[in-house]
Amino acid sequence: MESTLLLETYLKRLRLPVVARMYAKLGEEAGRSNLPYERYLLALMEQEVAQREQNTFDLRMKRAGFPVMKTFETFDFNASCGIEKQRMLQLAECHWIDNAEVVILIGAPGVGKSHCATALGVEACRRGKRVRFFTAEGLATIIREAKSEMVYGKLQRQMERTDLTVIDELGYVSLCRDSAQALFHFFSERHERRSVLITTNLEFGKWTEVFGDERMTAALLDRLTHKAHIFLATGESYRFRESQRSRNRKSKPNIERR
Ligand code: ADP
Ligand code: MG
Repeated sequence: MESTLLLETYLKRLRLPVVARMYAKLGEEAGRSNLPYERYLLALMEQEVAQREQNTFDLRMKRAGFPVMKTFETFDFNASCGIEKQRMLQLAECHWIDNAEVVILIGAPGVGKSHCATALGVEACRRGKRVRFFTAEGLATIIREAKSEMVYGKLQRQMERTDLTVIDELGYVSLCRDSAQALFHFFSERHERRSVLITTNLEFGKWTEVFGDERMTAALLDRLTHKAHIFLATGESYRFRESQRSRNRKSKPNIERR
């Protein structure tokens, strides 16, 4: 009894909650199947490590702030022109994040840009990367507020620790001058140091519409497109096509029932 109490105290002190929870049950099983001591210890440690990895992943996902959970398991590559499966799944291995490269997904609304951006972010979390997801407008506001409240240094340090920043929906809303400059500086600071993923409905020729200033846009594009993986998704909205397809199915006469 005393040794059990002592063991549980030690496990608590060493922060091994899974071992504390499972050692008795796994011990009984090990006894029944005559498992060597090392195998029992290994089974226990595997449980603890698996739980820790899960906790780390959950925390990374929470900090990433994805608006909706999307993965490549639910992405139909056959339904999306311009988002090649091979290329995308290669990016899912995250070497581009290690190399501080850029991914840009361009295409009309509904073609799966945010879905792929989130899926790449989730893959990065799975591989232990730190990810943050923003809309372009949202990030510009956060930067501007941090500057006006004199806490920009803190935000910079936070972003410094982020391996991948996803910036969704660039171009949906045209930015005021301060926001455009905030984003411009953000991109400049990250250039060749940390990865950025941008989704946009605007082809590069139209980016001046978002940033206003022609020279600033040219400088930005020069930096961003250097070492960038660019996808140009074409075609119609996935949901629109899905709804058309189900409408067509409904309007077809059901021959068997007749
Ligand atoms: P975008 O960001 O390009 O406007 P989204 O990624 O938000 O489009 O896609 C709109 C919806 O359609 C989402 O629910 C998304 O999961 C779904 N979707 C888009 N393309 C595909 C696809 N190829 N396979 C499965 N779902 C898709
Ligand atoms: Mg989107």
